[in-house]
Amino acid sequence: MSIDLHCHSTVSDGALSPAEVVTLARQNGCTLLALTDHDHTGGLAEARRTAQALGVRLINGVEISVTWRQRTVHIVGLDFDDAEPTLQNLLARVRQGRRERMCAMAVKLAKKGIHGAYEGALARAANPDMVSRTHLAEFLIAEGHVRNKAQAFSKYLGDGKPASVRHEWAALDEAVAAIRAAGGLAVIAHPIRYGFSATAKRNLFDEFAALGGHAIEVHSGSSSANDAANYAFLAQRHNLMASCGSDFHRMGDYGGGVLGACPPLPAGCRPVWEAFRQP
Ligand code: AMP
Ligand code: MN
Ligand code: MN
Ligand code: MN
Repeated sequence: MSIDLHCHSTVSDGALSPAEVVTLARQNGCTLLALTDHDHTGGLAEARRTAQALGVRLINGVEISVTWRQRTVHIVGLDFDDAEPTLQNLLARVRQGRRERMCAMAVKLAKKGIHGAYEGALARAANPDMVSRTHLAEFLIAEGHVRNKAQAFSKYLGDGKPASVRHEWAALDEAVAAIRAAGGLAVIAHPIRYGFSATAKRNLFDEFAALGGHAIEVHSGSSSANDAANYAFLAQRHNLMASCGSDFHRMGDYGGGVLGACPPLPAGCRPVWEAFRQP
């Protein structure tokens, strides 16, 4: 049985439709899958239809953009009721903020002589309700300003780069509360990727656990066995469960995990999926 509880479709910034994501995950041997698009649950119905046809157990998922102590942190929600209004209202607000941020980034790019970035990014988002820096990077590549996504982030879009803007996403307490209100489980996504000090990580995990958060991703993307052992230890120390997710967006790209196939969790972890209610 292989498990993947973090991946993306064209409903956010992935390259494959929800049906294609489920199909590829199944081909890779996955039997338990959560689709976790950024700030949007619109792909779950299509994913569920394909999952039922292919015999994959699909868990409702979402990856919420959060600002914690002026840093962006991603919180994955799993196994929630996707019709629950508290969660949907929060996601709608975060998506509105995405549009405002994209406008502000386009203004900064215009000052660098790059025009039409807002429209260009929106035109590349399959879901006009969910525009991200990935789409802006695709615009910059298409217009010949950068060679690839890595360069788009290192030259313009990354934190502290010329087109970056300060942005307030959801608060950590709101995100955890909304996931809990919808009956779901809250998971800190890819803790390895934030570049936090040991102290910052301890503070984040403490605060998250105190708010009623449930788990951290012990395996994320292409993290090593050594990384997993480290995060397994931290999960246990903070009395949190363990999750695993590829963060797949497209073949051979950012994140780097193989869709649908996370390595087994280190010994001693409490798997988050043992707490799932969804059949
Ligand atoms: P946003 O949520 O709009 O800030 O966009 C963040 C997304 O951009 C992430 O979820 C990744 O999919 C992608 N991303 C972030 N950093 C990089 C990078 N250095 N190279 C390629 N993609 C990236
Ligand atoms: Mn992404
Ligand atoms: Mn993320
Ligand atoms: Mn992700």
